[in-house]
Amino acid sequence: MTAPRVSEEAWDVVVVGAGPAGSAAALAALRWDPGVRVLLLDRSDFPRDKCCGDGIAPHVLDVLGSVGAGDVTHGWKPVHRLELARGARGIHGVMARPALVVPRSVFDARLVERAVAAGAVLRRARVSSVRRGPGGVVVDDVLRARVVIGADGDHSVVRSAVGRRAHRAHALALRGYAPTQEHRRGRQVIRFGDRRRPSYAWAFDRGDGLSNVGYGEVLADGRGRGPTRSLMLEQLDRLLPGAADDAKQWRGHHLPLSGWRWHQPDGPVLLAGDAAGLVNPLTGEGIYYAVATGVLAGRAAAQTIAGGAPEAAGSAYRLAVRRLLGRHLKHTWVVSRLARRPAVVDAGLAAAGASPHVFDDLVEIGLGDGRVTPRLAAGLVTRLAAELPSSLAHR
Ligand SMILES: Cc1cc2nc3c(=O)[nH]c(=O)nc-3n(C[C@H](O)[C@H](O)[C@H](O)COP(=O)(O)OP(=O)(O)OC[C@H]3O[C@@H](n4cnc5c(N)ncnc54)[C@H](O)[C@@H]3O)c2cc1C
Repeated sequence: MTAPRVSEEAWDVVVVGAGPAGSAAALAALRWDPGVRVLLLDRSDFPRDKCCGDGIAPHVLDVLGSVGAGDVTHGWKPVHRLELARGARGIHGVMARPALVVPRSVFDARLVERAVAAGAVLRRARVSSVRRGPGGVVVDDVLRARVVIGADGDHSVVRSAVGRRAHRAHALALRGYAPTQEHRRGRQVIRFGDRRRPSYAWAFDRGDGLSNVGYGEVLADGRGRGPTRSLMLEQLDRLLPGAADDAKQWRGHHLPLSGWRWHQPDGPVLLAGDAAGLVNPLTGEGIYYAVATGVLAGRAAAQTIAGGAPEAAGSAYRLAVRRLLGRHLKHTWVVSRLARRPAVVDAGLAAAGASPHVFDDLVEIGLGDGRVTPRLAAGLVTRLAAELPSSLAHR
């Protein structure tokens, strides 16, 4: 075993990536033990833009509340109405709890500020190597940590370091900001597409005169060839006519969609958020998973360090995530596979349109950590049975 290099700087926890997962991890570690030394690294200065729909589910604020940051969306208007549509069928309802639409340039910067105020040290650095070394984990050959949390997004460098391969299931999405159309004020609108791969266009009112608008499509296994930018813009305009008029700040990005099973290796390197391949395969929402797993990672790191066993961080964290999300991930995966059939999407819309409870259950699965409830399953089956004759007649 080689001795630590004298020039290595020692930390308890090094968090790579200061998006929602990384900031939440830093906040949680410091909440558990304010004395823990946390270094938060990001390749960008904050505020920085991040390609996203900016939809913040109420569940995100529940989690952030548990680490003293439940008010980071202060000043942004809650959005109460959700509109879902496919073809000629559309439903809209009032969500049991409102969501928010906050630009990531604001949301992420506020979270980083909170982490720093809680005691984390923020430093700009593009991490390129993470390896096991004496006394912990060595980052870029100059930093030594007892636990490293990889919260560095879909193209995670930390994930490769723990031998996890890039995630297989992906979607590709494009977003811009456009003036809000009068009839879409105060709403989050999602309209499903009719291409071979599951797709949808969205227009989410930020409440400040602008909407986040975009289009995303699930890719064939492996990243495959995705739709071109012009095809995505064309689909967006076809599904939500006029929503993207005068839009600016276009950006595109991949989304790593979660699968049936989620894995975290043993040891002192933890993966959270997109780096851990956690985005809801039904809706593309990933901020809730990012903050939820960030908090669990930060807590597992601080707890195991306090107990003198940082090597146990991986197994403690894996258990905590599976306890919180294990069943939900399986249910969401099943629903997302079923929803590849247009008839199932239609049945879901019809069932949600007929019952506010089914609507609420669908929202919980799509935005939070809900499961397929008996009433949701019954609603789907009943509607599918009712619609089967007409869908067969149209063949
Ligand atoms: C078009 C689109 C729309 C979406 N819409 C929504 C939505 O409406 N609601 C929702 O909940 N989710 C949405 N998502 C998903 C959501 O954006 C992600 O799930 C979320 O950002 C994950 O947070 P994270 O902290 O894990 O990663 P990120 O937000 O990606 O943060 C990773 C951070 O790591 C930093 N980093 C990366 N590499 C390195 C490195 N080598 N060294 C140092 N720092 C590094 C980056 O600069 C970044 O700050 C959308 C995604 C896309 C692409």
